[in-house]
Amino acid sequence: MTSVKVVVVGAGVIGFSTAVCIAEALPSCSVTLLSEKFSPDTTSDGAAGIMFTGEFPDIPLERQRLWFKDSFDHLLAIAQSQHSPEAGVMLSSGWQIFKEAPADKFPFWSEFVIGFRLMTDRELRRFPDHTFGQAFTTIKCECASYLPWLENRFKRAGGQVQQRKVHNLQELGKSYDIIVNCSGLGSKQLVGDTQVYPVRGQVLKVEAPWLQHFIRDGDGKTYIYPGIHGATVGGTRQEGDWRLEVDEGDTKSILERCGRLEPSLSKAKVLSEWVGLRPSRRNLRLEREVVQLQGRQVPVIHNYGHGGWGVTLAWGTALDAMSLVRQCLSEKPARAKL
Ligand SMILES: Cc1cc2nc3c(=O)[nH]c(=O)nc-3n(C[C@H](O)[C@H](O)[C@H](O)COP(=O)(O)OP(=O)(O)OC[C@H]3O[C@@H](n4cnc5c(N)ncnc54)[C@H](O)[C@@H]3O)c2cc1C
Repeated sequence: MTSVKVVVVGAGVIGFSTAVCIAEALPSCSVTLLSEKFSPDTTSDGAAGIMFTGEFPDIPLERQRLWFKDSFDHLLAIAQSQHSPEAGVMLSSGWQIFKEAPADKFPFWSEFVIGFRLMTDRELRRFPDHTFGQAFTTIKCECASYLPWLENRFKRAGGQVQQRKVHNLQELGKSYDIIVNCSGLGSKQLVGDTQVYPVRGQVLKVEAPWLQHFIRDGDGKTYIYPGIHGATVGGTRQEGDWRLEVDEGDTKSILERCGRLEPSLSKAKVLSEWVGLRPSRRNLRLEREVVQLQGRQVPVIHNYGHGGWGVTLAWGTALDAMSLVRQCLSEKPARAKL
């Protein structure tokens, strides 16, 4: 039987997770991943990769809970296996602290991370500007290791990889039966989505092996995440800002803000600086449409717009996207004739 040709566009954490899920779960498909850029040059590569999330306002919370749970279970299994160092996935414990208690003291994901609890007054004493905090163990997934690891897993499942910029979906209409769009911010141009926009983030990598716990200010702008290769300290959240250059003013501000949370950082050596653009959208887009391409009706599955939570939600949303591909197959059993 001729296999159904599926193309996944995008080699960030969303593209590779989705490609692996399809290639492993749907053996009747032959899967090709096309992308302009690959690791180490994607946004995903520089993400701190800490697992927790905000809420998309118009997506049912049940669906978001499942995305988080599926992702957490998947990464936890890796963190607790022999693959952990190679895949760059590790458990990470620490604190999220707030100047004032948030409305939602127990966010929806709190039941999935490990040992979630409110911080005691004694613990909070160390952060004199903050009055409320949450302590928990979550996962840190470092994409500079995780993406190559996923790529190997994809190839083992029979997937093929090609470097190529796709200018519009018409280019793919003749060669593929199903298109899966995981192009992140690239969707602005690729599918003309005016709702996707950048939120600029600048971070530094520092050498501070004595730091064992993460510290995150609940405003999401200041954080210290110890990892396998140094600690990531940040950051910025600049909406609509497309600049990819390091801003010296931001560097100064990051070191000053993080130093207030963890004074010992003044002794840490700065290893590198990095800027990435979070592919943001009011609600991430995970849906199927049918598009007329080269005279054929081609199903297109979109999976992009994860903003600051893409590493966290990658596996859960990839499973969802894979289910949409499966639906296309079941609706058209004679897919090969497409
Ligand atoms: C500073 C910073 C810190 C972050 N920290 C965290 C964190 O702690 N936890 C978390 O969960 N998330 C975090 N994020 C967010 C996370 O990085 C993103 O949500 C995630 O990387 C999005 O993945 P993606 O695959 O959609 O996009 P990308 O990684 O940008 O990948 C998009 C891919 O599509 C390709 N592409 C685009 N257009 C085309 C085209 N026309 N043709 C071919 N290929 C194309 C690109 O080349 C690229 O390979 C952070 C982001 C930043 C900037």
